[in-house]
Amino acid sequence: MIERRVKRAKEMVRLVNLDEIRDDLRMLEEAIEETWKFMREIGVTSICRECAKETGSCCKEWVEDEVDEIIILMNILMGVKIPEKRYKDGFCYFLSENGCVLKVRPVICVSFLCERITKKIGLEKERELQEIAGRELELGFIVREKILKMVSSYFSERSSSKSYRLPSHSPSKISST
Ligand code: SF4
Ligand code: SF4
Repeated sequence: MIERRVKRAKEMVRLVNLDEIRDDLRMLEEAIEETWKFMREIGVTSICRECAKETGSCCKEWVEDEVDEIIILMNILMGVKIPEKRYKDGFCYFLSENGCVLKVRPVICVSFLCERITKKIGLEKERELQEIAGRELELGFIVREKILKMVSSYFSERSSSKSYRLPSHSPSKISST
């Protein structure tokens, strides 16, 4: 359940040594802004805004399963205010009336481009966008690994709980057994 993942992410904050990753978070934030800047420049954000008015957006409820504790934690560390409750039934927990509240988003959200967009922007801009977004994803992965190491004790404390599911991409040394 997403609320449980949010709760766990908030509990993990105390285990993070922010000084060690401050520069990484800043670089990641810059890379995220670069992706958004390019998306604005080539008109992706306005296409999505129009589409959202017509369809309610493609941020459906199932996508929130891609947002694990570490992604939520990374967002908290970047100052994002995590919603207290779902904005719209049937839609992702992190969707607000102004779009996604997250800075760090899962891979699927960063890399997904629907046909409506690809047809409009063309292959060249699509490739360019993928390259820019790739930098965001790469940095996100590096920061994620550093944070996972810092919060590993949180997972080992709870590893006896059968209902607990480790976030994907956990370092192999953090065993769930
Ligand atoms: S990605 Fe495509 S389907 Fe999703 S909101 Fe944007 S235009 Fe609509
Ligand atoms: S972009 Fe944000 S609101 Fe949309 S599905 Fe992804 S995480 Fe959810």
